[in-house]
Amino acid sequence: MLTETKPEFSPGRCDACGLERGPLLKLSLGKDFFGRAYDRLSPASDQSPKWYCETCSMHKNLQRDVRDIRAELDKLSAGQPSQLAGTDQLQRAHVRLREISAILDGHVAGSRLLDPGDIKALIHRLQAQQASPSVPG
Ligand SMILES: [Zn+2]
Repeated sequence: MLTETKPEFSPGRCDACGLERGPLLKLSLGKDFFGRAYDRLSPASDQSPKWYCETCSMHKNLQRDVRDIRAELDKLSAGQPSQLAGTDQLQRAHVRLREISAILDGHVAGSRLLDPGDIKALIHRLQAQQASPSVPG
């Protein structure tokens, strides 16, 4: 994985759940799930960096993958060029979503950033897509 988190000085609280006890991690995300450059939270270009506690920073990474996969799946179902246009990529996204779903199931308190129901719905959409692939030219 190219994703990295760097422990740095923290201003005080997690930007997702408000936890005030550290350690907090400033997220510096390099590439997205599809290997594209992702600079929203990079220190150089981000004017308002976010800080997250350990659990939320992990969920934030998952949330980013879920969002990317959903966006590409939307494009695919609309017949537009998509990063998911390919059995391998669909399979990879499917595996990732199941992994994320399993991680969330393992968290008793759940996540403020991700809805497990959303992810299960997304998995169903992926499965439907795999069952009847529409391959645009
Ligand atoms: Zn938090």
